[in-house]
Amino acid sequence: MNKTEILGRWSKEKSEELYGIKNWGAGYFSISDTGEVLVNPNKENESTAVSLMDIISGIRDRGLDMPVLLRFENLLDSQISFLNNSFREAMKKLNYKGEYRGVYPIKVNQQQQVVEEVTKFGQRYHHGLEVGSKAELIAALSLLKDKEACLICNGYKDEEFIDLGLYAVKMGYKCFFVIEIPGELDLVMERSQALGVEPNIGIRIKLSSKAGGHWMESGGDRSIFGLNVSQAIEAVDTLRDNNMLHCLKLLHYHLGSQIPNIRDIRSAVLEATRVYAELVKEGAPMGYLDLGGGLAVDYDGSNTNYSFSRNYTVEEYCSDIVEAVMSILDPGSVPHPVIVTESGRTTVAYYSVLLFNVLHVEKFEEYGDAPDKLDESTSEQIRNLFDVNKNLNQKNIQECYNDALYYRDEIRDMFKHGRISLRERAFSEKIFWNIINQIAKEKQKLKNSPPDLEDIENAIADIYYCNFSVFQSIPDSWAIDQLFPIMPLHRLLELPKRNAVIADITCDCDGKIDRFIDLHDVKTTLPLHELKNEDDYCLGVFLVGAYQETLGDLHNLFGDTNVVSVRINPDGSYDLVKEIHGDSVADVLSYVEFDPKFMLVRFRQTAEAAVREGRISAADRKGIMFAYENGLNGYTYYER
Ligand SMILES: *Cc1c(COP(=O)(O)O)cnc(C)c1O
Repeated sequence: MNKTEILGRWSKEKSEELYGIKNWGAGYFSISDTGEVLVNPNKENESTAVSLMDIISGIRDRGLDMPVLLRFENLLDSQISFLNNSFREAMKKLNYKGEYRGVYPIKVNQQQQVVEEVTKFGQRYHHGLEVGSKAELIAALSLLKDKEACLICNGYKDEEFIDLGLYAVKMGYKCFFVIEIPGELDLVMERSQALGVEPNIGIRIKLSSKAGGHWMESGGDRSIFGLNVSQAIEAVDTLRDNNMLHCLKLLHYHLGSQIPNIRDIRSAVLEATRVYAELVKEGAPMGYLDLGGGLAVDYDGSNTNYSFSRNYTVEEYCSDIVEAVMSILDPGSVPHPVIVTESGRTTVAYYSVLLFNVLHVEKFEEYGDAPDKLDESTSEQIRNLFDVNKNLNQKNIQECYNDALYYRDEIRDMFKHGRISLRERAFSEKIFWNIINQIAKEKQKLKNSPPDLEDIENAIADIYYCNFSVFQSIPDSWAIDQLFPIMPLHRLLELPKRNAVIADITCDCDGKIDRFIDLHDVKTTLPLHELKNEDDYCLGVFLVGAYQETLGDLHNLFGDTNVVSVRINPDGSYDLVKEIHGDSVADVLSYVEFDPKFMLVRFRQTAEAAVREGRISAADRKGIMFAYENGLNGYTYYER
């Protein structure tokens, strides 16, 4: 019996608990009474909720196939409001005299549509943009209209970059150059003299405060960007010597992304605010304190300081920051600055959901129909394995496990040396898997299972082959073992009887997901439903809006997926605002410098040669060329 089965009849509530949707969903995702995943743009208010399965069928009717990345405009809108309102409320409550101005770092999701929507929804809060390169600055200038919003230029800057930023200042943008390395300052001063534009200068400092979590190297002495304190003082002196100290208006640091512990956030704010107060004392006008990114997303919903969680809420983040800034500045009566944060992850993570279908399931118990009796001629080792199977019971599972492994290895050795046939070896493997499945079943009944057998469920977990590429669509799952919530989109009133790992269709042994969110731990298998013959079974990977889209690579030449943008209306209907067809085979081939036109010519020549040699008819050639061209124009994923 499966562990979950013991819990009795299945229900929507049990699915909610099993998949943790209420913990990580931030109110945006829930389960309907018919057992489907809903997206609720208005958080708890379910009256405008839409089923993801409905959207899938709508998309399919329009001829778009899975995998598909859905983006929900409303969720982006809602997250921007949430962040801005949380800061506003914290400032009001604590009687803070400055303001909040958020900026969205383009690198977190650079798709035009995303940046465009951020500027659109952000306008009412003067939410700006952060850029880290010339290309991003050029993108930002095409989309940002709001002159009250900040435009923060981080990153290594050349003359062209600086000139563009100075023109932006001239046109009325609140554009800041953040000095990341000492040498940059001279170039900024030189170009501003040449163009006759006064720059807004910020400096990025290296803090001694460090953060735990995955990206901690961004802070600390060895971080690659930022000035240490003596370099910061030199920069102040240089500016003063050049009569430009009045241009120094901003202090910046970035501790790293996804900081799970609020204590790390607090101690960095305290240290940076001390530096800020000192710069004011030096005579710089200042006015802006830019705390960078780091506001984490609770991917596993555990609300802890685990790497993929956070032990604070957005509201706590905001009030802790405001309070910390005031605690340093108020005793010296330093005026409250505009607080800037560069939150990318929290702004866009919820916005996108990756959807795909399951293509095939491999079950390990199916290897294991054990025979009742053996032939006379069966070799001794296989006979031994057979006996292990026959004598297995609850009390001797550990011993049986050891024996089974021992005999299996022996049999494999015999095969290598030519002493048993392939058929005999296959027969023995069936017995072996039968034993492993029996052991797993018996183990479930035990209160304390032997330590060696702790992970035996993993050995027999099903493999669900799914229509997507980990490398293209959730690269952090592969690169840094990041966890994302994954669950079925439907059938949630049914008990999920299978325990599975997920494999993509790249056929790369790393193209799999075998770590899943859990409140207390990391799960190595995901409970899923048995496939029903004809019916599609669809899964969603949630919270993939941040960092995943632009890190994706063309592993095995699987390209961009279809992307569909959805806006949910106040009456609960929805519009497909934008559809972007994923890469065709010709697209991905041209990324690696194949020329589809040339390929067609070459293949046509090969086909013509085959006609000449009498291998195919001229009519065959037509059919073959049609298939080839069709393939070139088709989707890179599995098509039905
Ligand atoms: C990446 C980055 C950010 C975004 O951080 P999040 O944790 O995603 O909010 C902000 N500022 C700088 C300088 C960055 O490099």
